[in-house]
Amino acid sequence: MENKNFKIAIIGGGLIGLYLAWKLSEQGHSVSVFDKKKEKEIGKKVCSSLFSERIKGFIPQVETCIKNEIAGCVINFPKKKIKLNFNPKHLVVDREKLSAILIDLIKKNKVTIFFEQELNQLPTGFDYIIGCDGVGSITRRLLNFPSPKIVLGSQIFVQKNNNSNNVFTFPTATGFCWKIPIGDYTEYGIMGDPKNLKKEFDDFLIEEQIKDYEKILSAAIPQPRFSLKDGGLIFPEQKNITLCGDASGLTKPWSGGGIIWGLTQANILLKTFPDFNKYKKETVKRFRWLILKGQISKKMIYFLGNNFPSLIPSELNYDNDFPSFFKSFWHYLIKQRH
Ligand SMILES: Cc1cc2nc3c(=O)[nH]c(=O)nc-3n(C[C@H](O)[C@H](O)[C@H](O)COP(=O)(O)OP(=O)(O)OC[C@H]3O[C@@H](n4cnc5c(N)ncnc54)[C@H](O)[C@@H]3O)c2cc1C
Repeated sequence: MENKNFKIAIIGGGLIGLYLAWKLSEQGHSVSVFDKKKEKEIGKKVCSSLFSERIKGFIPQVETCIKNEIAGCVINFPKKKIKLNFNPKHLVVDREKLSAILIDLIKKNKVTIFFEQELNQLPTGFDYIIGCDGVGSITRRLLNFPSPKIVLGSQIFVQKNNNSNNVFTFPTATGFCWKIPIGDYTEYGIMGDPKNLKKEFDDFLIEEQIKDYEKILSAAIPQPRFSLKDGGLIFPEQKNITLCGDASGLTKPWSGGGIIWGLTQANILLKTFPDFNKYKKETVKRFRWLILKGQISKKMIYFLGNNFPSLIPSELNYDNDFPSFFKSFWHYLIKQRH
């Protein structure tokens, strides 16, 4: 493909949109970003911002935005605790600071950013349009795609010193509650079916004896519904319009985490740009089986943890982005022998 510079519109200045704007502008393209938020609100998002260290491979500048390091996760089933040692370990990141760094970087690359621009039609005058406008994507809606399956995530922050380096999770009927240490603060949250979420979260906060908090913040999280054809992800047929990140319905089925998978997808887009058909094929190839495996293993672990907890080891090494149960189990067997 001849090396040509294109005019590209990115709708949405979340982490995925900003990352793509940065990398595409480095390739010499003329990039414009549209976001409905004010500049100083751009990184504000209902999100725990717990990302694996892999994020450093995408945005090395994250080093200056780390609030806490997380070594693992303790899953609290009613009759058993299972400790997952994260490999790679995780970081709680100051997302607003990271977004501000990315905005500085792309401004230096002469990217035009239109803040406070809530689009309700596709922008004109561009060779390519990339919708990075999150779970409620206007780009996706304008192209008449139905919404992906959605769960709800809620969180509160409590001023409670917490120096643990483990996240604690508590499985619920359709998802899980969590407790994340962030130094001076602790985050309490829940993800699951919107129908029962409020009651389940109230019960969890009572159990944890949490009474004083400012307000509950909530947002939708897309969850791909596996299909053999496209993995459950959404891609327009048009040659010059595509979607990336939450807008395409991509998050990890077991946790709702969207950033590492979204950045991995963004790298596929960068590698295949401007061939959006190839981008679709390679993304589906990369994620289809991961999505299916994630959905099955989540159900299996919940079933075993609730009904046959003795069948699950108490401690496992675990890659929370691209898990391999074979690898985790192998490490477990080796540990048992020593
Ligand atoms: C409670 C909760 C906790 C979470 N915790 C984690 C976590 O710990 N780790 C993790 O990896 N993921 C987590 N997630 C998921 C994560 O937040 C998303 O996967 C991620 O933010 C998706 O990034 P994005 O850039 O695709 O979209 P977004 O971050 O949603 O960005 C979309 C951008 O598009 C803009 N936009 C939308 N519509 C328009 C429009 N019409 N015109 C112009 N601009 C528009 C928005 O203003 C926004 O800036 C969590 C989600 C929730 C709800």
